Amino acid sequence: MSSPPRPVPDPDVAGALFWEAAARHELVLQKCASCGTIRHPPRPMCPVCNSMESIFEQASGRGRIWSWVVAHAPVLPSFADKVPYNVVVVELEEGVRMIGNLLDIENDAIAEGMEVVVDFEDVEQGVSLPVWRPA
Ligand SMILES: [Zn+2]
Repeated sequence: MSSPPRPVPDPDVAGALFWEAAARHELVLQKCASCGTIRHPPRPMCPVCNSMESIFEQASGRGRIWSWVVAHAPVLPSFADKVPYNVVVVELEEGVRMIGNLLDIENDAIAEGMEVVVDFEDVEQGVSLPVWRPA
């Protein structure tokens, strides 16, 4: 039995450049053009100085596991063939947090503070998701 198609990101204006970079397998982060604050997920206004101007810069692609859960019951039928799967929160070296899946590891081996590096999973033509692997 095959699962329904996996839902894919539907970027808004603020997030379009992030997802375009991900499709090229590049991890970028939004940075305020006025005060330099890095923010994620992308959004129109800087929460520090209220500037509407921003740029996207290449991220290190490195971080540590900040938190995680293991899903045993799929939230959506699309994920039925993936359970149990993990969902991790990675704290990037740049100080922002990003959600994704940690691959190449048994779920019970995931640990707080574990060093991870970004990779990309191609989910359909032109759409790639950042995923994480143990460093
Ligand atoms: Zn700012």
